[in-house]
Amino acid sequence: MLNNQLFATLNNGVEMPLLGLGVYDMYEREAEQTIEKAVEIGYRLFDTAAMYRNETEVGNALRNSGIARKDVFITTKVNNTDHGFDATLRAFEVSQKKINFDYIDLYVIHWGIRGKRQDTWRALERLYTEGVVRAIGVCNYPIPFLDELEGYATLTPAVNQVEFSPYLFLEDLWARCREKGILLQAWSPLLRGLKMSDAKLVDMAKKYGKTPAQMLIRWGLDLGISTIPKSVSEARLRENFDVFDFTISPEDRAIMNGFNENLRVFNEDPMSYF
Ligand code: NDP
Repeated sequence: MLNNQLFATLNNGVEMPLLGLGVYDMYEREAEQTIEKAVEIGYRLFDTAAMYRNETEVGNALRNSGIARKDVFITTKVNNTDHGFDATLRAFEVSQKKINFDYIDLYVIHWGIRGKRQDTWRALERLYTEGVVRAIGVCNYPIPFLDELEGYATLTPAVNQVEFSPYLFLEDLWARCREKGILLQAWSPLLRGLKMSDAKLVDMAKKYGKTPAQMLIRWGLDLGISTIPKSVSEARLRENFDVFDFTISPEDRAIMNGFNENLRVFNEDPMSYF
């Protein structure tokens, strides 16, 4: 197992590994095998969603792996079709039954749906108060959504999971999250492979004797954000986790920040939900 995991302390004191495995687009036996292999390699954070249709496999794989429940961190998400107070509570029950553990570590709103965000957030606060989730958060919340939430929330989200990479460097949002004590978590941190041959990134990787994927992951970790690259390949699972033996210098990190092109690999701007 590769060691030296980095952890963040969320705004309610809960510890969360910074690097995790995103499990979007893996199903059935492939999902179970991938997650079991990931546990063996050292991954301890697993990011699923009702929408991914593999919550059952996540739970099964973690049980099969023999790892203690307290040593893994499971995130799942409210689906867009399940917003509203009662619907969210029901959706959580379904997710929890599928994952089949007594509690979920982090429950988040997958996309903030217009007109429903407040009631859905209220349901998450209820679940947190009941103790069935250790932390609650949001995904795809740009600054106006966070401002709106502040107007009605009793609790501050622990995490805001957004598309984020050197090519989509949302500096203002990241600063706002830091200011509010919200941990930013990057989805599609590898841009689904889109920039692996970008000469700037390849050159930077050569300088560190690392791969472009490892540079993208380490860049996030060095910013102190959480990052959840996905892979179903054992070699790439290992490659993506082999990032704890180096750091990127502040000067090179600043250069990577400058790769920004406001590039979204998933062509959906969360503001369209406002
Ligand atoms: P990533 O940026 O993690 O890229 C995954 C793709 O890159 C896959 O095709 C994978 O292929 C490939 N890949 C993985 N490792 C490497 C490597 N070392 N070198 C080259 N290619 C590699 O994309 P995702 O969109 O999956 O994002 C990660 C996670 O973020 C998701 O799995 C999900 O959990 C979460 N997410 C959340 C969203 C939200 O709205 N909250 C939206 C989108 C994602 P292979 O599997 O064959 O290795």
